[in-house]
Amino acid sequence: MEEKTIKVHLSNTKKAKPAADQLEFGRVFTDHMFILDYTEGSGWHSPRIVPYQSLTLDPASIVFHYGQTVFEGLKAYVTKQGEVRLFRPEKNMERLNRSNNRMCIPQIDESLALKAIKELVNLEKDWIPTAPGTSLYIRPFIISNEAYLGVAPSKTYQFIVILSPVGAYYKEGINPVKISVENDFVRAVKGGTGEAKTAGNYASSLKAQELVSNEGYAQVLWLDGLEKKYIEEVGSMNVFFKINGEVITPELNGSILEGVTRNSVIQLLTHWNVPVYERKISMDEVYEAYKAGLLEEAFGAGTAAVISPIGVLAWQGEQMKINQGETGEISKKLYDTLTGIQYGTESDPFGWTE
Ligand code: PMP
Repeated sequence: MEEKTIKVHLSNTKKAKPAADQLEFGRVFTDHMFILDYTEGSGWHSPRIVPYQSLTLDPASIVFHYGQTVFEGLKAYVTKQGEVRLFRPEKNMERLNRSNNRMCIPQIDESLALKAIKELVNLEKDWIPTAPGTSLYIRPFIISNEAYLGVAPSKTYQFIVILSPVGAYYKEGINPVKISVENDFVRAVKGGTGEAKTAGNYASSLKAQELVSNEGYAQVLWLDGLEKKYIEEVGSMNVFFKINGEVITPELNGSILEGVTRNSVIQLLTHWNVPVYERKISMDEVYEAYKAGLLEEAFGAGTAAVISPIGVLAWQGEQMKINQGETGEISKKLYDTLTGIQYGTESDPFGWTE
């Protein structure tokens, strides 16, 4: 039995909004949040918008010990005309349920979750920054909150949505990054949780990230967990390589997160008649293409940066400088088109915004 009416309890106080030039990622939160409870037997219930507040959780809550939790990440944009837009939010809700399935969390009503996000974003409309490249980051997540130290799926959960105004990822226009191929640590293995958006994947990535950032790299490029031969993804982005006129991205194999941006890039390239392939691609293949002068572009794709060109790729002591370290033509065109659709300055032929 599921109630669909969202109760609203408004906050009596309003927080000060950060100045446009002081926006960071994920440090400031809006005045309200959405909560939905799950209890075994009754299902998901009691949808409500409440003032943003701390949670009260039993220290034995399963989420603290065994990490039974999932999350999503998407953005709300405001157009020049003042319209609020979301980019393919139903894709995030579908992925949330796929993550739920992997983590033994009960399926959520995707239309109710989306309705909750829209109502919350509308209520917090004034929090959406308007400067170019800025947006309101939306973080839906589910925690297991049963007090039980046995290793078993929780019998109770909370689905929560919080919002955070975020600054432009690129302060001075799209800019290539330095990436280091990770040869020691692995992110995920086939049969593991790599394709779920769950906390443990991110906790286990911190060590590798810490080591490479000390050496001046923005993120690591993960290889497969078995042979460390095939390319998987970059930090929190999927990855694409343009080799001799063809664009290649690793195929979904169970250990890669299926990005909404990845899917949109594939659709756009197909629409433009640029050959694009989802297949296995090894570091050896990328290196050989580089040596032969055929590695034309490489870029990451994800909600945060949209498109992140890779200027330098470090692998086994070699620094591959891609496209003279400059943003490639396809990377730029994808970035301009996707951000144009998101901010309403370009037409939206696929109906991606709502
Ligand atoms: N891979 C990982 C591991 C991620 O965390 C993300 C960010 N959600 C992505 C890829 C890109 O996904 P999306 O395009 O949906 O943001």
